[in-house]
Amino acid sequence: MLSRIEKNLKEVKERIARAADRAGRGSDEIKLVAVTKDVPVERIKEAIELGVKIIGENRAQEARAKYEEIGSLVEWHMVGHLQRNKVKRVLNIFDLIHSVDSLPLAKEIDRRALEMGKRADILIEVNTSGEESKFGIRPDEALDFMEEISEFASISLLGLMTMAPFVGNPEDARPYFKRLRELKEELTTRNSQLATKMKYLSMGMTQDFEVAIEEGANMVRIGTAIFGR
Ligand SMILES: *Cc1c(COP(=O)(O)O)cnc(C)c1O
Repeated sequence: MLSRIEKNLKEVKERIARAADRAGRGSDEIKLVAVTKDVPVERIKEAIELGVKIIGENRAQEARAKYEEIGSLVEWHMVGHLQRNKVKRVLNIFDLIHSVDSLPLAKEIDRRALEMGKRADILIEVNTSGEESKFGIRPDEALDFMEEISEFASISLLGLMTMAPFVGNPEDARPYFKRLRELKEELTTRNSQLATKMKYLSMGMTQDFEVAIEEGANMVRIGTAIFGR
């Protein structure tokens, strides 16, 4: 008998593979970030034993407690909004920050990373839907923002992230994913050297990851479909 997490994980991976196939890509090109907010350590460990390689958390404090028990046998990704006063702690744990959404935050990450003698890997969060409840750079400001951040000495800008609005039908999320892909394409036209370094499009969650993959996602952030509610 498969455990629930094992069964869910298998299904998620199959759905990723089918979506990648429809998009003419290989499933090995798509990184699965297992989002573990509110999931107890025991179940995270089970997922790791089942092959999960990347953990996504959205709160610095919760992540820290879990990190102390799990350690760095997996990659840790910060997917939630990050406050400036948490940057130092976050850089101690996380391998990639998906949610850089302002210039002051980027400056603080750059400053702290320099202090720690490392480079911080980040993605820029873009608010493709324009919803006020969402964080992120406005799409029309994103290209300038990317170029500005790329100049920072202690930051490596590796891509873009977005969250689609909650919609009943995943098809309705497609325009927001498409917008993120188009931003990457616009950057390629404007600054191909920078665009080459921006290898990740982090988009797609439980409700909409297949549509996101069809639109070019190569990093999906999935919680509920793996761990349940
Ligand atoms: C919670 C969360 C996810 C995962 O959401 P599910 O619907 O549970 O798959 C992905 N990204 C972010 C930023 C999140 O906060």
